Amino acid sequence: MKLYPLTLYRPTKRNRSRRFAPYTTDATRLLTPTCQNSQLLEDFEDHFDSLLEKIVEFEADADIGSPCSCDGGIRTTQCHDCTQYRASCTRCFVRAHQNNPFHWAQVWDSERGFFVKHDISALGGTISLGHNGADCPNPKNNILFTVVDTNGVHATRLSLCGCLESGTKIDQLMRARLFPATTVDTKTAFTFKVLKEFHLHNLESKEAAYDYLAAIRRLTDNVFTDDVPVSFSTFLFN
Ligand SMILES: [Zn+2]
Ligand SMILES: [Zn+2]
Ligand SMILES: [Zn+2]
Repeated sequence: MKLYPLTLYRPTKRNRSRRFAPYTTDATRLLTPTCQNSQLLEDFEDHFDSLLEKIVEFEADADIGSPCSCDGGIRTTQCHDCTQYRASCTRCFVRAHQNNPFHWAQVWDSERGFFVKHDISALGGTISLGHNGADCPNPKNNILFTVVDTNGVHATRLSLCGCLESGTKIDQLMRARLFPATTVDTKTAFTFKVLKEFHLHNLESKEAAYDYLAAIRRLTDNVFTDDVPVSFSTFLFN
């Protein structure tokens, strides 16, 4: 079947029944009311132990401690936000996440024996504005900045572009799809993704901004949640 680019595809009365055609048949079957939950559970029962085993395996990584592919470091860092990321040294992690700077770095703590979550800035990474994620040849300054994304609240570092016609801080933030929380001396921004996600949650389930933000804070730190600094009033306003 011919697949249409999303922007060109306009469901009409005639083609409406084919809207879900690109999805697999089992995915569409699971949406139908005839699909029995009890049968689904029974199918899963034989796999419970092995599924649990695989989930527990994520708590460690056999590659940790081995030499990184760059030959310049040891594999210490994993990314659970990427799909199938291979543990790397911190430098390779930063390089690989130039365009995904809000993925949490899971750094192995060899003394305590588990991964500890860090923002990319803790590994020396900085979000450079103005050059599609690449370093600016004329960086203006490097500031501590708070970014709220769908996976939590990031205390990160941001570098503004100092090139000609780079625009104001707000211009640069907006081009990077970061919505400023304030317009004066901005130090916090929301990703467009988090604003859109909240908008849809609110539309579909009437989820309040306060509750949505509470979940975002838990995603950041599920134990010391009160220590996660995020301004409820600015989120509500945006
Ligand atoms: Zn990642
Ligand atoms: Zn490396
Ligand atoms: Zn620049």
